[in-house]
Amino acid sequence: MTATIIDGRAVAAALRAEVAVRAAAFTARHGRPPGLATVLAGDDPASHVYVRSKRKQAVAAGLADIHRSLPADVPEAELLAEVERLNGDEAVDGILVQLPLPPQVDASRVLALIDPAKDVDGLTAVSAGRLASGQPGLSPCTPSGCMKLLGHAAVPVAGARAVVIGRSNLVGRPVAQLLLLADATVTIAHSRTRDLAGLCAEADILIAAVGRPGLVRSAWVKAGAAVIDVGINRLPDGRLTGDVAFAEVAERAGWITPVPGGVGPMTIACLLENTVIAAEARART
Ligand code: NAP
Repeated sequence: MTATIIDGRAVAAALRAEVAVRAAAFTARHGRPPGLATVLAGDDPASHVYVRSKRKQAVAAGLADIHRSLPADVPEAELLAEVERLNGDEAVDGILVQLPLPPQVDASRVLALIDPAKDVDGLTAVSAGRLASGQPGLSPCTPSGCMKLLGHAAVPVAGARAVVIGRSNLVGRPVAQLLLLADATVTIAHSRTRDLAGLCAEADILIAAVGRPGLVRSAWVKAGAAVIDVGINRLPDGRLTGDVAFAEVAERAGWITPVPGGVGPMTIACLLENTVIAAEARART
């Protein structure tokens, strides 16, 4: 069997177009666009690239771009005060604090201060708790992107056996919660899991969020399964690759996401969608 390749770039472009329509409707109705605030502290080059990309795509979708750039030696109190200001700013619907933060700042304290109604990254403990208890709230972007890719490909999720490799707060845990909410039977695997290959081979849906290039081999994959590769790993020659040995797994899986061009583009598109969702929800209250 040769897998259907799920084109994350196309799905993300369609989602951004939908967000633009909702943003325009919001602007017409409320006299201001939905606002996304990005907070960047320090000089991490990768963080600068990510934030630039988020801001550019936000503007392209018709959102207001509010940006705070702080020096690498910013005191924690100043960052906390900035988050407080953004919490109170009516033009701000979503607050994204780019991680990692400089070492003198306790990231968990900063995240904890973000108003849950503006938590468009979905990473605060309140948002994680709402997700885990099945209450409405903003879901983290990469996990939401994985679910949208499964939905786009019409992969049956209800009743399916799903295995998630990885248990980070950023990806593994929340994607497992979203699969559970969609009625999959979910197992979360990690570095201490015994017989990972055997466990994965039982999965109808396999999500790899590990950070180990080519970890998932074709023998780990059930014929016809949906394989979502969240991993982003840079090879010594500079190319990006995922956690799944793509060529061999594509011969066995039913669906597969490539790296690059799979989950990656969905993350920012879901951030933009969360900002519009947050704006609409705040306008209703
Ligand atoms: P992380 O915090 O490092 O978590 C990795 C997880 O993988 C941990 O739970 C770890 O287990 C588990 N693990 C490590 N080695 C393993 C092994 N040999 N077998 C089984 N499990 C193993 O990473 P993350 O933030 O979740 O990110 C995971 C990957 O996704 C990375 O490549 C990252 O770059 C990528 N990513 C992509 C996007 C995107 O937009 N596409 C967004 C975020 C992250 P323990 O808990 O036992 O240590």
